[in-house]
Amino acid sequence: MFKRSVTTLTCLAAACGALLLSNTAQAQSTEKVLNLYSARHYATDEALYSTFTKTTYIKINRVDSDDAGILTRLKAEGAASPADLILLVDAARLTKADEEGLFQPFKSKLLDDGIPANLRAAATKEGVTWTGFSTRARVIVYDKVKVKRDDVDTYEELADAKNKGKLCTRSGSHPYNMSLFSSVMEHLGEAKTEAFLKGMVDNMARAPKGGDTDQIKGVASGECAIAITNTYYLARLMRSTNPEDKAMMEKVGVVFPNQASWGTHMNIAGGAVAKYAKNRDNAILFMEYLASPFAQDHFANGNNEWPTVKGVKIDNAALKAMSGGSFKSETIPLAAASKNLVKVQQMLDRVGYK
Ligand code: FE
Repeated sequence: MFKRSVTTLTCLAAACGALLLSNTAQAQSTEKVLNLYSARHYATDEALYSTFTKTTYIKINRVDSDDAGILTRLKAEGAASPADLILLVDAARLTKADEEGLFQPFKSKLLDDGIPANLRAAATKEGVTWTGFSTRARVIVYDKVKVKRDDVDTYEELADAKNKGKLCTRSGSHPYNMSLFSSVMEHLGEAKTEAFLKGMVDNMARAPKGGDTDQIKGVASGECAIAITNTYYLARLMRSTNPEDKAMMEKVGVVFPNQASWGTHMNIAGGAVAKYAKNRDNAILFMEYLASPFAQDHFANGNNEWPTVKGVKIDNAALKAMSGGSFKSETIPLAAASKNLVKVQQMLDRVGYK
């Protein structure tokens, strides 16, 4: 199994045709399948799925839904669930599904060696229950005329009185923010994190609403002066040929926070083997495929995400332009930060961060 994985992945990297041809007879005799439940909502992933099937002859039956929909479905299906592999966006959601017993542990030397341990679930004797495949930085955007970059180059400053009336965010309870705040709690501790969240509420220009792109638009329109967004939404606007998007991006500055301290928080997209997977080997093979240079490059150029696999270099002009080529990212284990999620939600309720 492992040997075959390596051959397949090497093949993908080198785009070799011989293995494909030699596998044809085998493919005709047995149909191999992978039942994939995916909450990745990016049209650019289509090529990723079709290349996997072309290379491995494993047919993918895909259920696309949002994260909540996938979890509801898995719970309703129980042991009868056909799901083999689950793709979810954000460590907060992966942790929640894991705690609800929807995954099973797996082992892969290739993934262990390739993906940094801080981007995976905590390892046990049985292996890990989920792993990240791509990252997106949670950055601060600001109005270049109204705000000085120095006043927003840390997350802590989002809560500083000097930024009163300027901040826009999406819901505090959204997983992207929950993961960020859970990480902040790892660094600052409980009391300071609650004060930080209270400070953010006091600084808001309006009640939380919309998605990340709406926050960027809010800064460009003058409704807000400071906001938080994941970088792939920004990169989409930077790469857009629409004149309105271009005009918007002229007004907005981007800062990768906490370069002088713990580094910029990274959200992840990741995968897990479903609890009742019948095609477990195919699920692991697909995850190893997602760690191949081909797939990692695809995440970077198709959806403007950073690769997680060590040593994979990307060539994405928008990501380079916004980050200046390199930046310091946070290195604490996301799985450890996720244990703070319940407390963070209680804090959000107490400080009135909707
Ligand atoms: Fe998203």
